[in-house]
Amino acid sequence: MKYHSTRGGGARLTAAEAIVRGLAPDGGLFVPDRIPKIDPAFIESLRPLSYIDRAEKVLSPWLTDFSRDELKSLLIAAYEGAFDDPAMAPVTRVSEGLYALELWHGPTLAFKDMALQLMPHLMTASRKKVGETRDVLILVATSGDTGKAALEGFQDVPGTGIAVFYPEGGVSQAQRLQMVTQAGENTHVIAVRGNFDDAQTGVKRIFSDRAFAEKLDAKNIVLSSANSINLGRLLPQIAYYFSAYADLRNQGALAEGGQLDVCVPTGNFGNILAAEYARRMGLPIRRLVCASNSNNVLADFIGTGVYDANRAFHLTSSPSMDILISSNLERMLHLLLGGDSEQLSGLMDGLKKDGKYVLPGAAHEQLSAAMSGGWADEGAVKAQIRETFERDGYLLDPHTAVAVRVLEDYRVGCEEKLPALVVSTASPYKFGRAVLEAVGGDAEGDDFACCAALAALAGQKVPRAIADLPGKAVRHRAVCEVSEMEGALVREMGL
Ligand SMILES: *Cc1c(COP(=O)(O)O)cnc(C)c1O
Repeated sequence: MKYHSTRGGGARLTAAEAIVRGLAPDGGLFVPDRIPKIDPAFIESLRPLSYIDRAEKVLSPWLTDFSRDELKSLLIAAYEGAFDDPAMAPVTRVSEGLYALELWHGPTLAFKDMALQLMPHLMTASRKKVGETRDVLILVATSGDTGKAALEGFQDVPGTGIAVFYPEGGVSQAQRLQMVTQAGENTHVIAVRGNFDDAQTGVKRIFSDRAFAEKLDAKNIVLSSANSINLGRLLPQIAYYFSAYADLRNQGALAEGGQLDVCVPTGNFGNILAAEYARRMGLPIRRLVCASNSNNVLADFIGTGVYDANRAFHLTSSPSMDILISSNLERMLHLLLGGDSEQLSGLMDGLKKDGKYVLPGAAHEQLSAAMSGGWADEGAVKAQIRETFERDGYLLDPHTAVAVRVLEDYRVGCEEKLPALVVSTASPYKFGRAVLEAVGGDAEGDDFACCAALAALAGQKVPRAIADLPGKAVRHRAVCEVSEMEGALVREMGL
């Protein structure tokens, strides 16, 4: 399997080469030359297998430059023992015909662990394959969640280091503690006296500093990113859609080859794109429902074919979906335009210049045939959390609640009701305060008190990744000015 740029420039690369590069040289994203196809017997064959074995079977046609044994050992190194549920990504029945694919049983309680636990191992193996002998230093600017998931994923992975910059005062108490107590000899965490945009701009500046790159090179280090547009983060996400289907078969919720609807709470479009790849591989998904919060640019786009990011930005209770420019959408456009990179480049130029583009009619028809879009405002999200808890006894985090709300709206208009899978992207305890308020609890005290109150109300236990935090030793205390991020990094790493 080879990969090429959505914008048409550059050479066709192996998976390992594309993972090492991250972004294509012409600014495009790497996409496969063709999408591998499976037959119905393949899906049935997954039913008795563990998650790791299922993932190995689903991912191997995408990673043909890795041997099956090699891929299996990477999956074991990444996933074994890192999740608090033996099924890793279990499917839970919420109500009649509605199932939740729980992707939050990893170390940071959110779905990014599914990709970020595996990506560091894919990255080091890929570097070896392409003959790169330097160590890789991953730089991340985070508004909270990605930083922690990347720290956990790269912790003590040989040949890698990771440095995370977060806005001082701009993350929640639990998020800050998660990061500053991070274990690992190769992890670095630095607070920046500024907001997230400052931190992000600072990281970009470090990436483009030639002199700094030369200094690192002399120490046998090269910079890289753990960004969600890297193929190494996208591909691992395809596996859990197949795993969910196999589980639904095992639970008797689907007949052999039976179709289902899938609803994904969407931000950067990575998760739902993996579902589209799974569908095009042959997984019987009837319709993909793309769920947005009040930042509803994608819902409008799917409805009208007009992408227009010129609108107010809303801070919501589902912050990982507070996005107006979804970078992975470019890969979807590439599919819809039949690989016409000239047309795609035109649309992307429009987005850059005017924050806007219009999808050609035929491509929009294709999009409408495959996907529905919808969105839920803050009131609807809160009401959904309460309703699902009171009616079904199931706690939703705000991101998953957006998806359940949008799915219910979509199902009202469906003539034939099919079993539906909602992708559940975060543990409710990651957003304990908002969830407690929604179910009518008394949200006094700090985040930990809210989680304890929520657990008491639901008759559950607070997950250890949260409960253990207040007792953990702080390991990272560095703070720096926005203008000083590079110097702080040099000091932290002793360069
Ligand atoms: C990142 C994230 C999302 C959005 O996923 P995309 O792949 O960016 O669309 C949704 N929910 C949670 C909890 C997330 O962390």
